[in-house]
Amino acid sequence: MSAQVSREIRLKARPTGLPTKDDFELASVELKAPAEGEVQVRNLWMSVDPYMRARMIDRPSYAPPFQLGQPLQGAAVGEVVASRYPAFKSGDIVRSMFGWRESFNAPAKVIEKIDLRGLPMQTFLGAAGGPGLAAYVGLLKIAELKDGDVVFVSAASGAVGSIVCQIAKIKGHTVIASTGGTDKCVYLEELGVDHIIDYKATKDIPAALRNAAPHGIDVYFDNVGGAHLEAAIEVARPFARFALCGMISQYNGETPAGPRNILLAVSKSLTLKGFVINDHFQLMGELANQIAVWFAAGKLKARESVAEGIDSAPEAFLKLFSGDKIGKMLVRLG
Ligand code: NAP
Repeated sequence: MSAQVSREIRLKARPTGLPTKDDFELASVELKAPAEGEVQVRNLWMSVDPYMRARMIDRPSYAPPFQLGQPLQGAAVGEVVASRYPAFKSGDIVRSMFGWRESFNAPAKVIEKIDLRGLPMQTFLGAAGGPGLAAYVGLLKIAELKDGDVVFVSAASGAVGSIVCQIAKIKGHTVIASTGGTDKCVYLEELGVDHIIDYKATKDIPAALRNAAPHGIDVYFDNVGGAHLEAAIEVARPFARFALCGMISQYNGETPAGPRNILLAVSKSLTLKGFVINDHFQLMGELANQIAVWFAAGKLKARESVAEGIDSAPEAFLKLFSGDKIGKMLVRLG
């Protein structure tokens, strides 16, 4: 097998504030034939995710920081093109953490073969992947959703939020969803959400939330933090449960902000519980089975925004912060 060229995106500079395209660089590497125990994979899809912003900072966290001059990492789905490991063969569809590059060699043991279950392969980066797991675990295990709960979700038209909305609707709940922009509000209507808040069109998120939930909310699924979290605390019913999934409004800030009304968590006996999907990977198979059933029954949609080609990956990543996309943001590489 002759050596091939693979293009990859490297971290050129550690961003301060909102990242820019100048923080990334495109490079080419020569890929040799895989060694004994390795597979060679041609990536077909890669994911861009908000947590990658935190990995651009040089500090310890649950995932190690990206290194300057090195390719970024993240979830990707691809096709095995050469294998020197018996359990893999050419044509197998696999998921890995070797995103941000066109092709790679890696030990077979760190690659996961996917049973597609009738789903499009890129769904394994969205509804049947990390974002879907965050929605599933956050709503059902962390917030312990129960009958009659009124659920509030922020970043509701995104990868995680849109699955939260749909699971909550499938289970018969009243759902209040916040997003920024008319086209995304229309999408949330299509998903059957009961009350939609366009946070970019309102100056007063608590008032909009109170209007949607005059008797308060029981569950808040937080993707955004900041003003949304404060509004949820203000409008929460006593004993409401908060699944703290992410706080994207804070990721580019130098100084952490709020919630300024955290004292209400005491008087209302609120439960605020953070979580990271890495602690729940054992549920990935259960999630994929459930998503496949809902998908086949037409109960769940997995909308995508797709950028084309490895060189478009930095711009796709930046769209997570501008909100210039609907559903799961993906980059098609194949
Ligand atoms: P996403 O929602 O598809 O994309 C990000 C969205 O965030 C944007 O579309 C935008 O929504 C919103 N946003 C960006 N800046 C904002 C701001 N300043 N104020 C309000 N909204 C803002 O991304 P995702 O992958 O589904 O992730 C959503 C959240 O879940 C993130 O916080 C992420 O870190 C978290 N997450 C956590 C875990 C975990 O293990 N805990 C796993 C996956 C994801 P609009 O378009 O509505 O403006």
